[in-house]
Amino acid sequence: MLIPLDEKPQFRCSACGSCCSHIRGFIPEQDRAFLKEYAFGRLPVVQLVPVERMTFPLWDWEASRFRQWGKEAGIDPRVKPLRVIYDEGKGTAIVLSYFMDAETDACPMLQERKCAIYHTKRAYVCRLFPFNRSPVSDPSSSGMDARSYFGECGAMEKILPELPADKENVVPFLMEAFPNGEFLNALQNDLTIEWSNRTIIELMQGKRLRPAMNLPYEELKKKMLYSRQVDFTDFLVECGHLSKVELDLLLQRFDENEDAREWVGGHEL
Ligand code: SF4
Ligand code: SF4
Repeated sequence: MLIPLDEKPQFRCSACGSCCSHIRGFIPEQDRAFLKEYAFGRLPVVQLVPVERMTFPLWDWEASRFRQWGKEAGIDPRVKPLRVIYDEGKGTAIVLSYFMDAETDACPMLQERKCAIYHTKRAYVCRLFPFNRSPVSDPSSSGMDARSYFGECGAMEKILPELPADKENVVPFLMEAFPNGEFLNALQNDLTIEWSNRTIIELMQGKRLRPAMNLPYEELKKKMLYSRQVDFTDFLVECGHLSKVELDLLLQRFDENEDAREWVGGHEL
């Protein structure tokens, strides 16, 4: 039965700061198992730090912004490379994402329980909570297990019991329940992950990238740490995959959640 429009619950973040206070160990169990199995040398993208030490991932362009915003706020966000591809062709470490190597469990940008850069765009990981994942990365691809999309958040009490159990209604419900865009941000982040995976394959097929794989992890890590480092999006321009103008337009598209809006348009029945 459809819930009358005026009775539909809407998410309101209470700004309790809980999600920003625990940025280590936030990973859902199934993702943790996948990372442990594949992220340490069995795929082109290699993780440089153990799963237990990693915090929220930042895309390379987000990491650059965080360094700048941190400087303006007088905070060192302790941004370090998280996931890297080692290109054997050019002996280059290509940094796909970064993390904030916080001294505590809390985000370095969290000051007196408030985000010091809240006035900025921040990063997807900041804007998508309470989502951990979206229907795009739902392994069931059915939209039936929408509870698994969320992390721990006290403001979800009214939303969770109302989640539709059927695929047709879950996307429109989430669009209405998250008027501040958390659902669109979660979708766009997952679509951006798909874009990065697709792009890595295209680069390999076009022989612009020859990732090292199946080397002993420590050997691979040493190569990465002592070689030239370049951000993934800079590499796309450097190797001729995109022009600078095309890259700027692409990042603008991501920032404006255009892929997410198109995805929703194709899934609203
Ligand atoms: S999203 Fe949830 S956990 Fe995070 S600050 Fe808002 S209410 Fe708290
Ligand atoms: S940058 Fe701000 S919103 Fe993002 S995790 Fe840190 S404190 Fe939270």
